[in-house]
Formats: sequence, structure tokens, C-alpha cells
Amino acid sequence: MRKISLKLKITLWYVGILLLISFFTLYGMTLINRSVLVNEVENRVITSVNTITQQLMIPNNSFRRIEEYSLYDNGVQMAVYNKDAVIAGRIPYGITDAYPLYHDYLRLVQFKNKEYYIYDKVIKISTDPYWVRGVICLTDELGVLNLVSQYSFVLILIFIFLAGLGGYIIIFRALKPVNTIRMTAEEISESSDLSRRIDIGYGDDEICTLANTFDTMLSKLEYSFNKEKQFTSDVSHELRTPISVILTECEYGEECINDVSELKDTLKSIKKQCNKMSKLVSELLIISRMDNNRIKLNFENTDISELLTFICEEQTEIQTKNIKLVTKLEHNLFCDVDRSLITRLFINLISNAYQYSLEGSEIEVQLYKKGSTLIFSVKDNGIGISEENLPKIWDRFYQVDSARLNESSNSGLGLSMVKWISERHNGVLKVESELGVGSTFIFELPIK
Ligand code: ADP
Repeated sequence: MRKISLKLKITLWYVGILLLISFFTLYGMTLINRSVLVNEVENRVITSVNTITQQLMIPNNSFRRIEEYSLYDNGVQMAVYNKDAVIAGRIPYGITDAYPLYHDYLRLVQFKNKEYYIYDKVIKISTDPYWVRGVICLTDELGVLNLVSQYSFVLILIFIFLAGLGGYIIIFRALKPVNTIRMTAEEISESSDLSRRIDIGYGDDEICTLANTFDTMLSKLEYSFNKEKQFTSDVSHELRTPISVILTECEYGEECINDVSELKDTLKSIKKQCNKMSKLVSELLIISRMDNNRIKLNFENTDISELLTFICEEQTEIQTKNIKLVTKLEHNLFCDVDRSLITRLFINLISNAYQYSLEGSEIEVQLYKKGSTLIFSVKDNGIGISEENLPKIWDRFYQVDSARLNESSNSGLGLSMVKWISERHNGVLKVESELGVGSTFIFELPIK
């Protein structure tokens, strides 16, 4: 049974059920019709004999000749007997001898391979009694019913066959996409090619919906898989550069350096690369925690104005570039935030503004309340970002080429973390930028 296809199983199941229902219905109906007909035949033979008997018993009627009575009534054959023999009417030959007369007794008898009902009645209008016998052939009466039942059975078989065939075709068509889904899944597992799709078009039925859901799932899997691949290759790339610098420096130191001051320079360069790697590794650790939802957010009511004032002062102190930081911060703006994450977001955006601004330019940091939202913005007159690169800056490891050439220890992970932090605070991030003119990053933080 396991080897039979699903289409055949379904078809066989409902054809079997249809056959059973039809058979029992037909059988039941035949039984009921038969019993109704038998009842009617019994009544008919008794009524016919009684009618003739009553007519013969009316005194005036005895003047009529006996042949004038109708001795055939709707299938009932009748005969009138005097003491010796049949004096009128006709019944099947031989039945009189086989079954003697018996007053008021309805009998079902077998005569020459047929079934008959026999009913006799005695009439005592003189000293010599007369008899009336009625005979009806039950086998003939049931013949039509049997014929109708047989035809019905054949017709039902034809209808069930057609229903089975039609059903099989419909199921075959409906299940065709399932086969395509199976084949696609097999192809994907064999070739590991996630770009394949079932692509059976749009339809309303469940199978089409399933196939389309499967395609959507494949697209998402492909996207995640590609991102994962990209991420791994980016990490390797980012680590390869400092490692090869360190190796080169070490080889040079080993072979060529005799002088202490030159050795110090080499060690300095190695330290710089180590710092870069250390920063990258700690950022990767945070990103991996973000991905695994292992960063527990600790919301607390925070004075954002005070926090931002502190961050701006700190940034002015640590940044080495000659850039003026102008702050326009509304006081006493509070909000429930994760203090350390929000601090990271502000620092990232402000330090980026420093990094991508030119010497002697100005950065403006603003904080104000608009309705139930706190708006934080950092505006610089730096290198700006082209329209084409704008949507990509939130991606992990994405760096505009000019930024990549920069000697700094940046890895392109900052803004992707900023985006994650903003999302966890139900915030909205916007950026307006023009190449060569400057950029403004805006962070809208809902107070509740
Ligand atoms: P990075 O560590 O390289 O700064 P980020 O994720 O912080 O990485 O930023 C991604 C890229 O977006 C940067 O490499 C830079 O090209 C661009 N970018 C970010 N902030 C600015 C800005 N204020 N002005 C110009 N470009 C910026």
C-alpha cells in the first residue's frame, strides 16, 4: 500500500466509499420496493377473487352467464369451479391438480420454476358449492423491478467510474506542484544552489500558496546565506591586512634591524595593527551577541541632555582634528533607554562626523523635543556621501572607497550597530548627505 501514489490512494478511497454507499442504497431500495410490491400483489389477488365471489353471490346475477364475468384482472387469472371441473376462466395449466382448493387461504407456491400466489374462495349459493380460484405470477411481477435494479447498478458503476477518472485527473493536476516542490528541494540539496525557485505562478489554492511560501522562504534563506558568506569574507579580509602588515614588520625586524630606534618604530607599527585587530574582534563580538539576541537591554530613565553634554565634551577632548563642535541641546530631556547602547550610538555618529570632516570645519549637534519624540542630529560639512552609496552605509563592513583608503582603524561596522541600537529603541534613523558638501544624521527616539 505504501508504494501506491497519493493520487491513487485518494481516488481508490473515495471510489470505494462511493461503491459501498451506492451498493447499500440500491440494495435497501430494492428490498423496500420488493416488500411493497409483494404486499400489493397479495392484496390484488385477494381483492380480485373477493370481487368475483361477491358478484356471483348476488341472486339476480345468477341469471347472467358465467362467461360474462371478467375473470382476468390486472395480472390476476381466475377460474370458477363446480364440484367436478373448471366451468369458466383460465389459470396456468396443471396448477389445479398440483394444488387442491383451499378456502380463504393465500398461498405462495413454486410451480414450473416460477412463484405464484394462489387464493381460493368457496361460494355456497345452492347445495353444490362453487369455487373461485385466483392465481398471480409473482416472478413476472418482480421481473420489472429486478430489471430496473440491474440497470441502476450498471449505471451507478459507470457514474462511479467516471467520477473516479475525473477525480484522479483533478488530483493529478492539483498535486503536480507538490512534485515540483519535491524536485526543487532535491535539486537544492544536491547542488546547494539556493537560487532555484519552484515558480509555479500565483493561484488561490493551498498548494500554490505552499509553493509561493516555499519560494519566499528560499529567497530569505538565500539572502541570509549570502549575507553570512559576505560577512565571513569581510572578516577574513579585515583581519588579513593587519596580520600581513605585522608579519612583514616582523620579518623586516628579524632580518634588517640593528638599530634600537628603528626597532621601536617597527614595534609601534605592530602595536597599531594589533589595536586595529583588537577593536575589530571586540566589535565582532558585539555583533555576534546582537545576532544571537544575547545583549540584554537594560532600560532606565536617563537624562539624555546631560548624557549628550558629557559625550560632546569628551569628544572635543579626545579628537585630534581642528574642528569646532557646536552644541544646541535642550535641557532636561529624559527618556527610557539602555544607557550604554545609546552612548555607543551617540559616540559613533559624532566620531564619524569628526572622522569624515575636513580640518577647520564645524560640526553641529542638536537635541530637542518634538511632540513625544526626542530628536538628535549631527551635522557636518565633511566629505559627504553620494546618493548611490547612501543606502549601503548601514550594511556591515560597508565603507565608501575614500573611507577605506583612510589609514584609520575603522572597519565599517559602526553604522550597522547604530541601526541595531536604534531599532531596539523603536527609533528612526535618517541621513541627508551630499557629496563634497556634508552630512546630517538624524535619530528620532520615541519618549515612550
Ligand atoms: P566606519 O567604521 O568606516 O566609519 P561606519 O559603519 O561608521 O563605518 O560607516 C560606514 C561608512 O559610511 C563609512 O565608511 C563612511 O564611508 C560613511 N560615513 C559614515 N558617516 C559619515 C559621515 N559623517 N560623512 C561621510 N561619510 C560617512
